[in-house]
Amino acid sequence: MNCPNEHGAMKKVMRVEETTFRGLAVSYGVELWTCTVCGMEAEDLSLAADNQRALSDAYRKTAGLLTGDEIIDGRKRLGWSQEELARVINVGVASIKRWERGQIQTPVMDRALRGAFTGRITDCDPYGGNRPLSLGRIKLVLLCFGRHLGKDLLKGKGNRLLYAGKYLWYADMISFRETGRSMTGATYAALPMGPQINNYADLVGLIREADEMVEEPLSDREERIIRRIAMAFPTDRSVFDASHKEPAWKSKRAGMLIPYSEAHTLTTI
Ligand SMILES: [Zn+2]
Repeated sequence: MNCPNEHGAMKKVMRVEETTFRGLAVSYGVELWTCTVCGMEAEDLSLAADNQRALSDAYRKTAGLLTGDEIIDGRKRLGWSQEELARVINVGVASIKRWERGQIQTPVMDRALRGAFTGRITDCDPYGGNRPLSLGRIKLVLLCFGRHLGKDLLKGKGNRLLYAGKYLWYADMISFRETGRSMTGATYAALPMGPQINNYADLVGLIREADEMVEEPLSDREERIIRRIAMAFPTDRSVFDASHKEPAWKSKRAGMLIPYSEAHTLTTI
């Protein structure tokens, strides 16, 4: 970029800017094209975007909010895509992208993000069972059921998990009832054919492909719960019929979510 006062090429110079932003005093590094002769400063589009993000991050740091990089790091530490994080805290993926790029999240959303990163999402999400969604753990639970039932629950026609969804629901609900925590963090909806993972059609492929080896392995207690459920419901028909007797499912209109707080109403196991 050339100086508009005809002093030739400007140089990129970094300096510290102090300003008041949303009522807080913040200082942050800005990079500007600077003329060494007259001191004229200018931004191009790419510097403007970087400087905007530096201001946003300085503000977020001062205000006690996660910065863009902290959101990216928190998400990657859990091995989540932007889509997975969006699902866990129940926002659109566009919001995750904007916050990572520099838009400032509200304090409520900041708490939701921190909750998702630490696994403590009780106060913002009654539908995850005190655990962030883990597709790898869903796979672990289905593999464990498969060993007890003698069949592969990850198979099935297309994107349907008709019976697997019901076994998972029982495993998560009973785990929540007995340990205060679900096994997989999955959210369930009351569908006409029974309880099912919410948005399962989008998730089936991801569950099949998930790397279960990087997940926290099932505890002995979780394995025992799965064995109990497999023994109580040895066939597709039996788990189908049982789930259709549960008040937690019967009391919902089609598509409504089933909160984990209703785990204590289970009647068939
Ligand atoms: Zn100049």
